Formats: sequence, structure tokens, C-alpha cells
Amino acid sequence: MADQLIRAAAAEGGIRAVGVVSTRLTEEARQRHKLSYVATAALGRTMTAGLLLVSSMKRAESRVNIRVKGNGPLGGILIDAGLDGTVRGYVDNPDAELPPNAKGKLDVGGAVGHEGYLYVVRDVGYGYPYSSTVELVSGEIGDDISHYLVRSEQTPSALVLGVFVGAQGVTAAGGVLIQVMPKAAEDEALVRTLESRVAELSGFTPLLRAGKTLPEIFEHLLGDMGLTIFPETQMLQFSCGCTFDRMLGALKLLGEDELRDMIEKDDGAEATCHFCNEVYHADSNDLEQLIVELRSEMNG
Ligand code: ZN
Repeated sequence: MADQLIRAAAAEGGIRAVGVVSTRLTEEARQRHKLSYVATAALGRTMTAGLLLVSSMKRAESRVNIRVKGNGPLGGILIDAGLDGTVRGYVDNPDAELPPNAKGKLDVGGAVGHEGYLYVVRDVGYGYPYSSTVELVSGEIGDDISHYLVRSEQTPSALVLGVFVGAQGVTAAGGVLIQVMPKAAEDEALVRTLESRVAELSGFTPLLRAGKTLPEIFEHLLGDMGLTIFPETQMLQFSCGCTFDRMLGALKLLGEDELRDMIEKDDGAEATCHFCNEVYHADSNDLEQLIVELRSEMNG
């Protein structure tokens, strides 16, 4: 199944659900950043969470940034997800690896660290972005994002995130976010049923690996609650907005002396994009051109 996002509703609009398949984009991130197994799972879960969170925003330019800063060997995680279906991200230490945890699963919580902070920034494309910080609950990402949703958005939410990575790379990744709106939240029996079903869904990637589609997973969770699956399917991809010209723009900010130094010592400059690991090379001619532009800007 291609990477995609699908929405659904149930209980006459009292329940909203979003599902994401992010297998290919997580695999692309793994290859670009040469991620370890546990780093792949950590970044894949965080990118999937970003796509789920941004999906509730309205303006087309909307983006969500998630930064996870724990005390584990992975260092920090930063992702940037857009309502346009693009996402990018990186971890500080892509080769950090840990043995499986007590459940025999990738130890994402151990790699991220059990203590630290989760920062979520929602940017609608104008004005000040809205940001919020919560302490990490477990470092497993899913728990931490759920905690953020309850604390800062005060919407009862259930979130499942999963990444399965084997010797051949990522074979399944995705997640489901279910939110209970105020009018349905009063129905305690409904909320309890939903909670127990989501808790049982802890094996989300096995469902995907068994060939289950997002509509089938929605059917399983909400089929008897008046489920409506919306027909629009949004395609998702790993995508970074960096370009050679932007890299030159960043080099220009260093100023003439620094650029002159690079020409004389290194015969050019090399810059790597943090988000996508693309390497850009500027040769001496490119740098000379920047100096010409700087001078003309000073005179103009
Ligand atoms: Zn980039």
C-alpha cells in the first residue's frame, strides 16, 4: 500500500479518526540518514505522529514540528510535517543502537531516554506559531504524544504508532489517532469500549504486515459505532525543501572574509542538510559570485 492518510468519523461526529501508512517514507528516512534499527523506529513514529497531528489543521500552509529531547543515546529528534502530506526529519545520533527491550521489541524508550521533553509547534503559516511543551512519559513517542494531546489540547485521544524494521528495511509503518469530541466524551461506555479496542491494537504493524488496509482497521475499531470513512485519500511522502540556492543563501550570510577563507583553504564549500542529509558542493566560482553579490548589495 502506498503511503497515505485517510480520515473517518463515528458516533455522529463525536469520534474523529485519522489513519496513516508511512512505510515508504520511513524507509526513505532510514536510507538517507543511515539509521540504526531503533533510530528508524523512533524517527518513523515521530514523523507519523507529525502527519497525524497536522491533519487536524485547516490552512493549506499549516505545519507541525515535533522535537523530542530525551536523555538517551539517540540524542534529539526533530521532524517537520505539512498538511500538504510532506514530512522530513532527523535524529542527532543515527547509529545509536540498543538490544531489544524486555518485550523483545525495539527499545525506542531506552534510545530516546525516559526523561526529557517533547515540544510541539503548530504553525498555520502566519503570525506566531503555537507551541507547547510536556515532559516525556516513556520516550516511546506514542505515549508521549498522547500525553501532549490530553494535556495541551484537552481532547481524550488514543494514539497507536508502529514501525517494523527488519534486515530488508522498513516493511510496515503507520499509525492511527482517534479523538473523542466533547459531546461523545460524556458517553462513558463508548469511551471505555474505544479505549480497550485501541489498547488491543498495540500490534498495529502486524495488521499492516498481514495486508490489512486502513479502512479495514477503522472497521475493526469503529465498525459498530456508525462509522463513516471519507473517500479522499491523501498521498504522503518524505520531502525536504532544501535547494542548492538556499544553501548558497546560507553561505552568503557568513560574509566576505569567511567566504574568501573557504576559497583559499578548501577551494569551495560543502554543506549538508540536517533534515534530509543531502550534500551540496559550492565551488570557488560559486563563492566568488556570492562575494560579488555581497559587494553590490553593500554599494546599492
Ligand atoms: Zn534537505
